[in-house]
Amino acid sequence: MPISISAKQRIEQTPRIAKLEMAWCKSKAGELRPADEERYHNTIIQKKPFAADYMEIHTHPKADHKTEDSKFRALPSARDILYFLDELCERPNISTCVIVSVNSNGEVAGYTFLRAKDEFIERAKQMKMKHESYETQIEKEENIYGQAKSLIDGVMWYGRSKTKVYKSLELFSRVGLQIRFVPMPGYKFEKDRFVEVA
Ligand SMILES: [Zn+2]
Repeated sequence: MPISISAKQRIEQTPRIAKLEMAWCKSKAGELRPADEERYHNTIIQKKPFAADYMEIHTHPKADHKTEDSKFRALPSARDILYFLDELCERPNISTCVIVSVNSNGEVAGYTFLRAKDEFIERAKQMKMKHESYETQIEKEENIYGQAKSLIDGVMWYGRSKTKVYKSLELFSRVGLQIRFVPMPGYKFEKDRFVEVA
């Protein structure tokens, strides 16, 4: 799943890229198109994509302060995952979500790709319909997608847990979500972030 050199340059040349979260959409043929609608605290509300778009891209900058949350993270947040699942139901053309880890110099350290295969998109739609009608706890526990979704809902409401995010990604990957961590030259993926190779 390539991100072209020119797209990488475009990202790195964006003003304040080292400090602020940024977002873009991309069609198969087209260039990156800025998708920041508005800024709310440390996150952004993304513009709705065009019909031809297939990829949503946003950055995770390396924050200054040393809280658990602000570490250099390659993992999608619970909000990222839930937004992606929701979008898949409304706009199945957006089948790829890319998180760009940006280091403190504003350079790309690596990419995290979430790509939904067709079977995964179908499942997301089915589960959304089901959820909106009625679903017992047992039914939820019996299906892998439901388990993963419950985990990530929990993280969203009860606070960050990397273990649960990992577990949910592992479950989602069994039912058609491809997840790849792609470090840039000079970096490697380690646990939850891209680190410079010593
Ligand atoms: Zn994010």
